[in-house]
Amino acid sequence: MLHSDKVLVFSPLEITLFLVLLAASMSGFWMRFGKIVRKIREAKPEADFRLTRLGKRAWDFVWEVMLQAKVIRERPLPGIAHAFVFWGFCAFALVTLNHLAAGVGFPFLSRETWFGKFYFDFAAAFAVAVAVSITGLFIRRFVVRPRWLGEKVSIESGVIAFLIFTLMITYLAAFWRGDSRALWWSHTLALLIFLPLIPHTKHLHLVLSPVTVFLKRGEFSDIPPLAGDEDFGLDTGKDLTRVVALQAYSCVECGRCSQHCPALNTRKLLDPKKIALGVRGYLNEFGAASEEPLIGQYIAQEAVFQCTTCGACEFQCPVGIEHLPIIIGLRRGAVNTGKWEDSYGTKLFLALERNGNALGFSAGERDQFVQKQRLPIFDGTQEYCLWLGCMGAYDPQGREIIASFARVMNHVGATYGVLRREKCTGDPARRLGNDLLFQQLAEQNLQALALAKVAKIVSICPHCVRTISTDWKEFGEAPPIEHHSEFMARHRDRLPRTVTQDKIVYHDPCYLGRYRGVYDEPRSILALAGEVIDPPRSRERSFCCGAGGGLAFLGEETGERVSHARAAELAATGASVVGAACPFCNTMFRDALAAVSPSPPKLLDIAQIAAAGLPKS
Ligand code: SF4
Ligand code: SF4
Repeated sequence: MLHSDKVLVFSPLEITLFLVLLAASMSGFWMRFGKIVRKIREAKPEADFRLTRLGKRAWDFVWEVMLQAKVIRERPLPGIAHAFVFWGFCAFALVTLNHLAAGVGFPFLSRETWFGKFYFDFAAAFAVAVAVSITGLFIRRFVVRPRWLGEKVSIESGVIAFLIFTLMITYLAAFWRGDSRALWWSHTLALLIFLPLIPHTKHLHLVLSPVTVFLKRGEFSDIPPLAGDEDFGLDTGKDLTRVVALQAYSCVECGRCSQHCPALNTRKLLDPKKIALGVRGYLNEFGAASEEPLIGQYIAQEAVFQCTTCGACEFQCPVGIEHLPIIIGLRRGAVNTGKWEDSYGTKLFLALERNGNALGFSAGERDQFVQKQRLPIFDGTQEYCLWLGCMGAYDPQGREIIASFARVMNHVGATYGVLRREKCTGDPARRLGNDLLFQQLAEQNLQALALAKVAKIVSICPHCVRTISTDWKEFGEAPPIEHHSEFMARHRDRLPRTVTQDKIVYHDPCYLGRYRGVYDEPRSILALAGEVIDPPRSRERSFCCGAGGGLAFLGEETGERVSHARAAELAATGASVVGAACPFCNTMFRDALAAVSPSPPKLLDIAQIAAAGLPKS
């Protein structure tokens, strides 16, 4: 009785057989699913988790789960196919309940009623869409075989696809040709085999991912504060939280994160999918009460420290997995317990501790630069505090960007000053998991800003902007900060147009784009000087320069350099200028462009491009 056109009557023996098989199927489901639920519950609660922002959660649920928008947006064709399978499942929920009720003689949907007729027709339309979609997905997985789905042919995916196809075809056959015992039993058996397979395979995401999306920790790359002196980050199973465990079990192994990861794409060990699956493997073997180190059999330390924190993985993931809190949590665990030994890392932390900047220069060097450039000192009367950042204060190219931006600020009549003493925001310490050092730097800077009575900050560095506006919140409220692209875009009408024949290719910095959602402002500044073009990977899908996550200060020893891969892509556009909006991208591309092209394009920050048209003074 797939639909109640004519009523099938089952013998007591058939009903008994059906009930036995149903019980077996349900216990097969629960045996595994119950174990997973226990594993998740065994993990500790998230210390700072609050079920707030219900409107945002509901919207994400509707957008990402019900409308499958993320799945479709990132991979349109397979995304639509996947969405139809999902929508078909939803449409078939009522049909399936009716089907099971019919097995014991109590169908509740009948073609005799207008609703029943409408619903069976509605489900039939979905059955056609699902059958076509699942066939397409099957061909993709087993014939086309994109590398991001993994090397191994997944037999379980084939079995699941066959079962879904059988469910649809038996429904449609009964819909058009009338019910028969053979069709009823074929449909029933496909259903009862499918149910226990869900928790035993990656199709577990069917049940978990709606919950995972609703229970996401927070905003993009939201790093949780440590929950007191005893919290060292993710060191052993005992440190895993329920949200992390839920996310680990939700991974559908689609490889979207891997496809966009700059580390994996340049032949590093890190694969963000394997981070999620590594946590799952650990939980399956040891559980969340174990004191076995997390970094070991399932997750390699080398991989954890290859992450540039670009956020491409988290942005791509369709089931709400937040990779960055996990990766940074693992780094915290390794750093805070002294398990990470890296000469570059040690040098960096020492430089931050002793000199207050990541480049290891003495503060006197900054003073000299400030004097030479005649940058005013912030005295409380100016509108903006111009935040120099380590790159702006010490790096030669960064200093040129500051000098250009200061000219732009002078030109538009903005008043500004720099702090007498400014330390690194702590960004590399934060992303590398050294919370103690990060806290010290954040608190010292917050104090300096408060003493100087700063009301607004502007910075040339997206990493400083992110760290000040978001990460410092743990230790106090910083004045509002904006990126110089936002400042200049607001004053664009007062900047001269110097349009040439130049094609300018713009590289979206991860910390300005994905982290802050600023895409149009820098482009609007570049458009003052030429035609702005995008490289193949741009905006939300931009490819990292390789500097983030503290990696600008560590040795990149495996595989191809991330900066070279991106520089080659930028140079291949044929543009004569590469427009950058981050001093870290600038420093990475400086050598990379020369290395990948015999006649490399010119590399300029948006501030340098804006300042080029200003009268010399
Ligand atoms: S944040 Fe970027 S580098 Fe790190 S794992 Fe994700 S995609 Fe890879
Ligand atoms: S972590 Fe997310 S994006 Fe990566 S494979 Fe798993 S489900 Fe796909």
